[in-house]
Amino acid sequence: MIKKNNVNFFQVAQGVWGMKLMFVNVFMIANRRGVRKGWVLVDTGPQGSADKIIAMAETLFGVGTRPSAIILTHAHSDHSGSLEALLKHWKVPVYAHEYELPYLTGKSSYPPADPTVGGGIMSLFSVFFRRKPLKLGNKVKAIDMAESRIPELPEWRILATPGHSPGHISLFFPLNTTLIAGDAFTTTKSESAIYLLNSIKQLSGPPMYLTPDWESAKKSVVKLAALHPRIAVTGHGPIIRGHELREALDNLAENFDELAVPTSGRYVKQAALADETGVLYVPPFKANTKFVAATIITGLLAGFIIARQIHKSVA
Ligand SMILES: [Zn+2]
Ligand SMILES: [Zn+2]
Repeated sequence: MIKKNNVNFFQVAQGVWGMKLMFVNVFMIANRRGVRKGWVLVDTGPQGSADKIIAMAETLFGVGTRPSAIILTHAHSDHSGSLEALLKHWKVPVYAHEYELPYLTGKSSYPPADPTVGGGIMSLFSVFFRRKPLKLGNKVKAIDMAESRIPELPEWRILATPGHSPGHISLFFPLNTTLIAGDAFTTTKSESAIYLLNSIKQLSGPPMYLTPDWESAKKSVVKLAALHPRIAVTGHGPIIRGHELREALDNLAENFDELAVPTSGRYVKQAALADETGVLYVPPFKANTKFVAATIITGLLAGFIIARQIHKSVA
């Protein structure tokens, strides 16, 4: 862990650093060589993270620095939350997959979260996550997926890894097989607030409550496992390396249905459909009794805690 200028961040590999913002990671990649040197920011964390991201960048690359581009693994609010604030400070191009653009240009909202899956408190809270799209207009560009790279980061391959979101991408550096997987898989149990906030290591599938296409999500994990990365970081959870990564990722790819896919839920039997115009179809929501019971218990518990706090403060 590196602690400087009031920010804590960590080194992932040579020329790659990460920072945890509440429960989401962002990354900075320095270009080793090429016509354009400089660096690229991967994801922007939840809303309110811009100052920390700028402080980390200035610690690494000098006061007044700015990235040559910002690239989004996907546009979920915990990964794109500080994008607008950063663009006020840095006038730089933003890249995302073509299928992710509708959620960045005000054309479509993401399929709704499924709070019934995963069993953790984060799953229940997922209904409160922002689904409304950002309105960035022409500030955001589609990644040229035929090239599988962006000009500002020529040595890194960009792979389509849909499932968790329609235009989800991962970044891979073949030279030392470093993988930034976004939420295609995670290295903590992201349905659990305890795991998430404490970054407890456990290689897992994509966050269950926000994954509307499990078939695609499985193919994406198989694709990433086939790269045999030696270092992996994801949107949620700590770094995982070497043998531990290889074993856990192969296991997840081979047993994805048992390990990652919820037993029941809105998107398990039928996926939401989306393309470059946004969401085309969302399967209907059917709450099961277990979920209703869990919601009532959580509600009562929250009510009890709040009542106790009020009682304490007036006592
Ligand atoms: Zn996500
Ligand atoms: Zn995420």
